[in-house]
Order: sequence, then structure tokens, then C-alpha cells
Amino acid sequence: MAKRKSMAGGEIIREAQIYDVAVIGGGAAGCMAACAASFSGARTLILEANDRLGRKICATGNGRCNLTNLHVDEKCYHTGGGEDLSAFFARFSVEDNIRFWESRGVYLHDRNGYVYPRTDQASTIADAFDKILRAAGTEIISGSRVTDVKPEEDSEGRVFRIGTKEGRRYFARKVILAGGGAAGPQYGCDGGLYGIARSLGHTVKKPLPALVPLLSDDTDLKAAAGVRCDAGIRLVCGESTFRAERGELQITGKGISGIPVFQISSEASRALDEGRRVFAEIDFLPDFTEEMWEKEKSRRLSEDRNCMLGTFFLGLVNRKVLDLLLRKQGIQAEKKASKVDEDTLVSIMRDMRSFKVRVTGTGGFEQAQVTTGGIPLSQTDKDLMSAFCRGLYMSGELLDVDGICGGYNLQWAFTSGWIAGKSAAEERSSGK
Ligand SMILES: Cc1cc2nc3c(=O)[nH]c(=O)nc-3n(C[C@H](O)[C@H](O)[C@H](O)COP(=O)(O)OP(=O)(O)OC[C@H]3O[C@@H](n4cnc5c(N)ncnc54)[C@H](O)[C@@H]3O)c2cc1C
Repeated sequence: MAKRKSMAGGEIIREAQIYDVAVIGGGAAGCMAACAASFSGARTLILEANDRLGRKICATGNGRCNLTNLHVDEKCYHTGGGEDLSAFFARFSVEDNIRFWESRGVYLHDRNGYVYPRTDQASTIADAFDKILRAAGTEIISGSRVTDVKPEEDSEGRVFRIGTKEGRRYFARKVILAGGGAAGPQYGCDGGLYGIARSLGHTVKKPLPALVPLLSDDTDLKAAAGVRCDAGIRLVCGESTFRAERGELQITGKGISGIPVFQISSEASRALDEGRRVFAEIDFLPDFTEEMWEKEKSRRLSEDRNCMLGTFFLGLVNRKVLDLLLRKQGIQAEKKASKVDEDTLVSIMRDMRSFKVRVTGTGGFEQAQVTTGGIPLSQTDKDLMSAFCRGLYMSGELLDVDGICGGYNLQWAFTSGWIAGKSAAEERSSGK
């Protein structure tokens, strides 16, 4: 015979209707949280707005899901308060992540430290979560967007009332918010959980797009649109210069893109939002040491200049890049090198190593892979429980933690999901 409970709201509900743990959001963090809670014996519900779990997971890593990186390091993450993440990674590490999958028959492989499922299909990970959760007895309700979460008290303690857009209600002793950030709205993330977190006492650091192309109002860039080349890139914001990144740079009609640009985009996004002047300094010859470059410059300057500039500078940078650099000096590539003074030739060569692009914006959230900003980590405890609402936990991109490209963001989602899920389930069983 089911026990009856009277709710603070005056409504009578059966104990059997109350889940131990409800996870809101069935993405990477939410699925991992639900696994951890279910494995710990908690009766667990997962509510997902999309019609399936892990829709965004299916889009990750260009459809292959780069689910972690063998070189994960706290320095690869940005947190609003500069919090140290090492204690979290010690509780669910890269090795734990790999073991989680391989012990369940989902084999992985790595390319230069970037880890993917053996199938090279991101859907393997989303489907595996579905299979693992069903086997663990987790109740999965998809197509259900949560609109409000209200803590109440009954004779047994705290119980959360969870409302959905479709007008359904669910009850749980513990709630884990895992609705992601604002990046990738096309995958179901509308940032709606920020509002729920606010209603429960939290503040939200302004969410901004990260791992995103950078835009420039420099119309000359169009001269080099379509170029993809190996380059070094450094972000310069006023007096601050950030670490240099290197990789395949893409020049688009609207700005710059590619992995090295993504890697500096979180800081660029924040600096732009603060109204600072932002530049990307590009080195089109990242293989040259200073010594090699000095020699190369002297050699070029001592050569016969009775040729067009395009020929004089041949073999150093992509021809469209050269056109862009010449255009900045107001010179045509067809002009004879002998007709250009030496200072200008030196200046063109200097630009090859440090060409400054003024950054005036970033792509929007639909182009971003991740959100920088969100709920400050300082508003949670070591178990990721809310400092303001007992029994409420947070995980994943919703928190103000974002990593660079390369599997770091999914590792954070899995690490934080695991910790929140296990802690919520264990706190339940310890009766706190
Ligand atoms: C195109 C793309 C490629 C990427 N590639 C990689 C990669 O290869 N490696 C990597 O590490 N990272 C990658 N990322 C980043 C990574 O996917 C995210 O950091 C990670 O998925 C965040 O996990 P999460 O669970 O916190 O949020 P999400 O994965 O965004 O999941 C949140 C879930 O919550 C649901 N939800 C939201 N609000 C509600 C609500 N109110 N009610 C119910 N459900 C709700 C959403 O529908 C969604 O399913 C990529 C991102 C994108 C967009």
C-alpha cells in the first residue's frame, strides 16, 4: 500500500511518485549524471527537451565525438573565478572516462591524444548512453521541456516539484540541472535553465559564445577569403597578450576561423563584451625561428629586385595572403620590387610574421561549440551542490567552465555529471 505524503503546496502525492533524483537535460552531463545516480541505486528520472538523448553529442567532433583528450590539464579550461578544477578531475578522470566506455563494450581510439569512439560515429556514444541508462532502470522521458523547479518540504524533508511546458509535473528529492549553456540552440539548448537557476537563488555570469569564429570589419580580408594555412595566432587585448596557438587558420569573407582561432575565442568574446579593443596577431610563417627569419630577410633583400613583388616574395606565404599584405601597404603585386623602397619591403616581411587583424565580434551561439559564462562554480560546493538550494546540483556547460577544443568540454561534462549524479544519490542514501 503506497504511503501518502502531504505537500507544502497542500497537494497529496504518493511516495511512489517521488523520484530519488531527477536530472534535467539529457546531454553529455545529464546522461552521465543519470548513470552515476542509477548505478548508486537511486530511482532516477531524466527529462530531455528533444525527442532523444544526446542530440548534441551526435554533432560533436564533426560527427565523430572527440570525447576526451589524453592530455587534459586544468590550464585548458577557463573558469570565471579562476577555480582549480583538479579536485574534480581527480574524482572522474580521463582514465575513468575511458574505462566507463570500454568496460561497457564501447571501444575507443586516439589520434595524437584526441580520443574518439572506435566506430568514429558520435551516435555510438548517444546510443550507448540510452542503452546503459535503460539497463540501469533509469526512467527516460524525452520531448519534455522543464519550465520550473520549486523546492517544497514534506514530512520526509525536501521535495522538488518540476513543471514542464506540456503541463506535466514530476517530483524528486534531488534535482540535477544539466541543461547545457546557450551554445548550439539548434540542438535544443536555449539557455532556459539559467532562469530556473536564478529562480533558485543563483546568479549567472553573462553567457557568451566560445569556440567560435572571430569577425572583423576589415574589408581587405576578403582578398584572402578561402585561404587555409598553417599559422600561429595570438590574441592581443589592450595591454594583455594571451598565449599563442598554432594550427590551420581559415580566412573567411567575414573574419577568421579554424581551430587556432577557436582556441583564443573565449578570451576574445569576454574582452569584446567588456568593450576592449581586440586584435588577432597572425604569424604566417610559424616554422621560422628569429634567426632563420633574419637570414631569410637578408637573403631576399640582397636578391635581384628587377621582378614583380609577387615574384620577389614567391614561396613564403599563400599568394592571396601576399595580396592582402600588399593591399595593406597600398601596393599592387604587379609592381616591380625595385620600385618599392627597402623600408616598405621590410615592413611587408614583418607583416608576414605579425599581421594584426582587428576583431570586432564573434559568431553567434548557433556557430559556437560552447558557452563561456554561466553559473559560477563558487556557487556550488565540492560535490557541485548549490550553495543556495539544498538538494539542487549543477553540471556541464551550465556552469561557468569552458575548455579549449579537443575533447576538453565533453570531459568536463562527464566529470561534472558523474560527480553531481553520484553525490546526489549518496546524499539521498545518507539521509542528509
Ligand atoms: C557542433 C559542436 C561540436 C562539438 N564538438 C565537441 C567535441 O568534439 N569534443 C568536446 O569535448 N566538445 C565538443 N562540443 C562541446 C560539447 O558538445 C558540450 O560542451 C557538451 O555537450 C556540454 O554538455 P552538457 O550536457 O552540459 O550540455 P548539452 O550537451 O548541451 O546538453 C544539454 C541538454 O539539455 C537539454 N535541455 C536544455 N534545456 C532543457 C529543459 N529546460 N528541459 C529539458 N531538457 C533541456 C537539451 O536539449 C540538451 O539535450 C561541441 C559542441 C558543438 C555544438
